Amino acid sequence: MDISATLAAISTTKEFASLIIGRKVDSAVTEKAIELQGSIITLQTGILEMQAQIQSLTQEKLDLEESLKEAMTWKSEDEKHELVTLAKGVHVIRAKENQSNSQSEVWYCQSCWEKKIKSTFQYVTQDYGGTHYSCSTCKTKIYDHSDTASFGL
Ligand SMILES: [Zn+2]
Repeated sequence: MDISATLAAISTTKEFASLIIGRKVDSAVTEKAIELQGSIITLQTGILEMQAQIQSLTQEKLDLEESLKEAMTWKSEDEKHELVTLAKGVHVIRAKENQSNSQSEVWYCQSCWEKKIKSTFQYVTQDYGGTHYSCSTCKTKIYDHSDTASFGL
């Protein structure tokens, strides 16, 4: 039985109790009918509160399902990537070897990745000491010493 059918049944019982109270009957019957009316009101209130709780639990369940789906999606994305050390103290996240080709290799910022944000390092400039990149989200800068400007041909 759903909640609205239950509430309708309670309403019918409440009307019956009111009918008895309105009639000239035995005072003990009237007293019991008044008591019954009080119980019915308590039941109605209880059911309405339960209905609100069910709605709130249903919403919570939907929210949790959504969070779980997001976490699973991120986990599968995370498993396709790895932390790589470009130079001493310089780390980036990139697709695992078998899933990337070096021509279009994208580097992601490690600290953004830990916050589940896929933020790429953008090329800034290159000098004889290496190449500068900056995270497009948190603006962290890295300096890749392994990729220096050549001295001209
Ligand atoms: Zn970042």
